[in-house]
Amino acid sequence: GKKMRLDKLLAHTGYGTRSEIKKLVKQGKVTVAGKAAKDSGLLIDPEVDEVAFDGERVMYREVIYLMMNKPPGVISATEDRRERTVIDLLEAADQLMEPFPVGRLDKDTVGLLLLTNDGQLAHELLSPRKHVPKTYEAIVQGDVGEEDQASFKVGVTLDDGYLTMPSDLKILKKDSNEGGVTSVISLTIMEGKFHQVKRMFEAVGKKVVYLKRVSMGPLELDADLEEGTYRELTDEEVAMLR
Ligand code: URA
Repeated sequence: GKKMRLDKLLAHTGYGTRSEIKKLVKQGKVTVAGKAAKDSGLLIDPEVDEVAFDGERVMYREVIYLMMNKPPGVISATEDRRERTVIDLLEAADQLMEPFPVGRLDKDTVGLLLLTNDGQLAHELLSPRKHVPKTYEAIVQGDVGEEDQASFKVGVTLDDGYLTMPSDLKILKKDSNEGGVTSVISLTIMEGKFHQVKRMFEAVGKKVVYLKRVSMGPLELDADLEEGTYRELTDEEVAMLR
């Protein structure tokens, strides 16, 4: 397998920062194959060398963070009996790391989807208490105006009676044709109820005909990613999310 530094392994598995780990190694708390490690920079093979902290085996699992520009027509689940999933779009080597989508986009929604096998990060991003902002761009049938902006700012009542949190609606462009007016908008919401954006527009009598997520918290969709393609997050992007 691949060699890595002992301090990197311990940092990735949550034992502290590199400098904290250096101290712990000096204190003799870390063993490799049963012997106390002397150097936190020791190169080890996490799949072969048994690393233990205070006598307890350190389990290593490589983490993966992917940013996908989700195409329409696939579902954001790990498996499905008949539908194609976002996992089907990944290369085999990436599928082996068992990433899962962080939250859901509707089958017809496109744009930013984070996939990871880091359950803790996913949990934090999805926690309803965290109010991670998500920004969408949409094409809406109808003339979206100041009244809608004012309604969205205070919150609108969805079909099930739920009052949404304040959200920020921006009108980017309007087009008119034989079919009437369509509006291009951007909407930032701090929560993620089922079909939320579509249902918010339904609440003001308008229909979303195209929906794309462009950001989630500090993470922005890479404009160079074509629909259906993906890339690993950079170290900076991973750090921003934590
Ligand atoms: N809101 C929706 O209505 N659909 C999505 O996929 C995401 C947000």
